[in-house]
Amino acid sequence: MSVSPPPLPASVLSGTPVVPGIAHAPALLVRGEVSESAILAFGDGGFSDPEAALAAYDAAAEAVAEGFAAKAAKVSGASAEVLSASAGLARDKGLRGGVKKALTSGQPLVEAVRAAVAQFVDVFTAMGGLMAERATDLHDIERRVVAHLVGEPEPGVPTPDQPSVLVAADLAPSDTAGLDPTVVLALVTERGGPTSHTAIIARQLGIPCVVGVAGAVGIEAGTPLLVDGTLGSVELRPDPVEAHRRVAQDRAERALLESWTGPARTADGVAVKVLANVADGESARTASQAPVEGVGLFRTELCFLNRQDEPSVEEQADIYAPVLEAFADGERYVVVRTLDAGSDKPIAFATHEGEENPALGVRGLRLCYDNPGLLEHQLDGIAQAAARTGTPTWVMAPMVATAEEARDFAARVRSRGLKAGIMVEIPSAALLANRMLEEVDFLSIGTNDLTQYTMAADRMATDLARLTDPWQPAVLRLVAITAEAGRHAGKPVGVCGEAAADPALACALVGMGVTSLSMAPASVRAVGATLGKVTMATCVEAAEAALAATDPQAARAAVRALLEA
Ligand code: PEP
Ligand code: MG
Repeated sequence: MSVSPPPLPASVLSGTPVVPGIAHAPALLVRGEVSESAILAFGDGGFSDPEAALAAYDAAAEAVAEGFAAKAAKVSGASAEVLSASAGLARDKGLRGGVKKALTSGQPLVEAVRAAVAQFVDVFTAMGGLMAERATDLHDIERRVVAHLVGEPEPGVPTPDQPSVLVAADLAPSDTAGLDPTVVLALVTERGGPTSHTAIIARQLGIPCVVGVAGAVGIEAGTPLLVDGTLGSVELRPDPVEAHRRVAQDRAERALLESWTGPARTADGVAVKVLANVADGESARTASQAPVEGVGLFRTELCFLNRQDEPSVEEQADIYAPVLEAFADGERYVVVRTLDAGSDKPIAFATHEGEENPALGVRGLRLCYDNPGLLEHQLDGIAQAAARTGTPTWVMAPMVATAEEARDFAARVRSRGLKAGIMVEIPSAALLANRMLEEVDFLSIGTNDLTQYTMAADRMATDLARLTDPWQPAVLRLVAITAEAGRHAGKPVGVCGEAAADPALACALVGMGVTSLSMAPASVRAVGATLGKVTMATCVEAAEAALAATDPQAARAAVRALLEA
């Protein structure tokens, strides 16, 4: 008589929750590497000379680029941009030059590709921030090119043949762009933080996502998983009946959220402005369809990522006007942020080259220290667009550290008849929020950078997810100081970092005195509906509980318990 083995016990891994929701499906593993045996069999490729090897590289790189371009054609928005950028990188002449040089010096083709990529990765990594993220892209291109050379299928995300949870060490931008949320039900990564690329794409797709999950790469393909993007847990081999019950409950709750139409009010009628973060005219038009009362953050630098020279005032007005136009209904307003160039967002015509530590360097408002024209022209462009559209326009500066900077900026903005504010992203600005409010009309807390600078942890560093968490008590303390200063001054204090998109944290932020929350439109309904279920008194209790907690996990649990009670 044969005895069947006992079922493997369930176990639970935990990480940083970034997109709420529950999913139950088998694990689909992202194949990371080309097999070593295929590379060994390929050897030096048997090419007659470096020219022949370079021709093989060209064919492989072109095939990879075409693959990205084909994927880009099937999607739109940020996903399409990411894929097109990857196609461009695969065709990059500098990269090809590196391969050619290594081939000429006698290296076999696969090694030549790896050497050229390594050289570029070093340069990008040294630049830090968003450029360092391009290193993930480059490695992805290297694996794909090598796969073509040795005759293997490209590594990366396999096409799921059933609804699955995608599990990976980390995901390259080109992996996450173009994912189909009807078959990829959730994302789980071993590395990555709340502001990582994986998190941003998951938020756009609206699928549950947990990052920084220790042990994720050890999960075996096909293992049934229950992913809770609110708690940050990944349960292996859950009880199927209980898993189905939780998924059904989550689905019902989400359906309820979809019917939320705004405007945002707590259950006892306290108004909170829920706003959208936008990047250009197209995203503003899409956002204007969501139940938002305006735009809380228009990231103007994103309009110029590929621009070599400074646009004229008229050109800038033409670029900003469509964003303002989308909200020109007489009811809504737009907060425009002046150029936040530098560090993770290098802009050719503004960024200072070769800084040792660009996140602490000349970025954001600091760029106008030695180039005041840059700010003046932009403010002229914004003022023109505001006059053209009639949309109430508030203007804020990024990376303000001193009250003197706030005063100078406010004078320039007000001289153009616009409302002036600053972002609170540097701890000094939070600590001096009361003095900042003597200079400006409003504050907007950028929790992404405020967390980075408070915790001294690079927001893009995939290994520091536990630190780059806006639920960190020190970050919350600074937010509370800022909100309290706003209440005292009777001036608006908003949050426009990713923290505003977390429904539970949003309640605690409102309890601290935050008056507006700005986020990706995909998160608006969840945040608005959650606020509608709780009273202001509960929000205040949630704020107190979060501030009293010793760590982010305890803060999340305490707030969740209060909101569910
Ligand atoms: C922030 O830092 O929180 C913010 C909203 O600005 P960005 O993410 O564009 O740096
Ligand atoms: Mg910022």
